[in-house]
Amino acid sequence: MASDLRELYQEVILDHNKKPRNFREMEPFDRKVEGFNPLCGDRLTLFMKIEDGVIKDVTFQGSGCAISTASASMMTEALVGKTFEEAEQMFSEFHDLVTGDPTDEPKVGEHLDKLEIFAGIREFPARVKCATLCWHTAKAALEGGQKSVSTE
Ligand code: ZN
Repeated sequence: MASDLRELYQEVILDHNKKPRNFREMEPFDRKVEGFNPLCGDRLTLFMKIEDGVIKDVTFQGSGCAISTASASMMTEALVGKTFEEAEQMFSEFHDLVTGDPTDEPKVGEHLDKLEIFAGIREFPARVKCATLCWHTAKAALEGGQKSVSTE
């Protein structure tokens, strides 16, 4: 990976970990799902407000490593205003990005925008679940059937 992308990755992760965006409980909410990554111990609770198939608001609470917190923080910013379909596409593009071969050019899906910095995760396969925990939790929230998800 180019060193400027690596630097940006570290900077953005540190910033979002220190000042997570949308880090609060939501009341009332339409969906609430708990996520747990036993591999690292990351826990989060995701709240979502939905109107006519569009995500109106997303917030989260919880405790976890810097990557899981930063990923959730950036995801909440990215999901507001998106339709369910767009959110699903972002989920699969994000998954492809972080699980790609680190020696290849990162495969940045068209919906990812700022989330492309998570290409940095490819060099640390053990941390992929830290980055994807919030996305699994959001997917469960959109599907609406589950109260909790685990990455294992
Ligand atoms: Zn973690």
